[in-house]
Amino acid sequence: MNAPRGVPSNIERVLFSAQEIAERIREVGAEIGERYRGRELKLIGVLRGSVFFLTALARAIEIPLQIDFLSISSFGGQTASGAPGMVRIAKDLDDPIQGQDVLLVEDIVDTGLTAGYLLRTLAGRGPRSLGICTLLDRTARRIVPAPVEFRCFEIPDRFVVGWGLDYKQHYRNLDYIAVMNPEKI
Ligand code: IMP
Repeated sequence: MNAPRGVPSNIERVLFSAQEIAERIREVGAEIGERYRGRELKLIGVLRGSVFFLTALARAIEIPLQIDFLSISSFGGQTASGAPGMVRIAKDLDDPIQGQDVLLVEDIVDTGLTAGYLLRTLAGRGPRSLGICTLLDRTARRIVPAPVEFRCFEIPDRFVVGWGLDYKQHYRNLDYIAVMNPEKI
């Protein structure tokens, strides 16, 4: 699919339209509601990328839930694949998660370094259960195993923007997910 008119020139093509994304989030929200029926869920968003997905997902889940956020920063440079060297929590959750059913909500799981680190850290706080739900999954670049329980889309090994995903802090607000033109990155 070519990019809709009026999109920035460094966007090559649209991978998923606004409508496809909305439909898929409804399906995954329903799956999550079934899986946790009779329980109360906590969604944990990773700032800033997962905000758009988390708010849409939360509205598609028909069981009681709470939300909380953390943010991370990477340090130690980049690995050869361009993945962050190491990550640490820059802003922690506001509330404890002990004894709770927790879903970590990600914009994309790429190398798995971020999700892997966060899962290990959160597991140490004694949640009743802990899983990952991601908008995009790029398994082709996985370095660290990251057990993704719910995902909306698997994507090819291309840099994407929109729906919270950025290039130099831009394009998070695109209502579709698009591949950047590598010559213009
Ligand atoms: P990981 O630790 O390599 O799994 O990926 C961590 C983070 O890298 C994601 O949460 C995104 O913020 C960022 N990232 C990875 N791939 C892309 C992309 O294609 N577009 C924008 N951001 C990305």
